[in-house]
Amino acid sequence: MRKVKDCKTSFVKVRCSKCKNEQNVFNSASTKVNCLVCGEVLAEPTGGKANFIAKVLEILP
Ligand SMILES: [Zn+2]
Repeated sequence: MRKVKDCKTSFVKVRCSKCKNEQNVFNSASTKVNCLVCGEVLAEPTGGKANFIAKVLEILP
């Protein structure tokens, strides 16, 4: 496992573009995040912060 120096992890609330499901996702997800309802990819890892494909509604503290 790779060490992650950036400890500023937080959750973001995203909405699936397909089924409108709202889901909380780690903003530094290291694996692909899929919608729990329809399986659509919501975020992809980029090595650092996740790249959000779904619409980001809000950043949770
Ligand atoms: Zn969905």
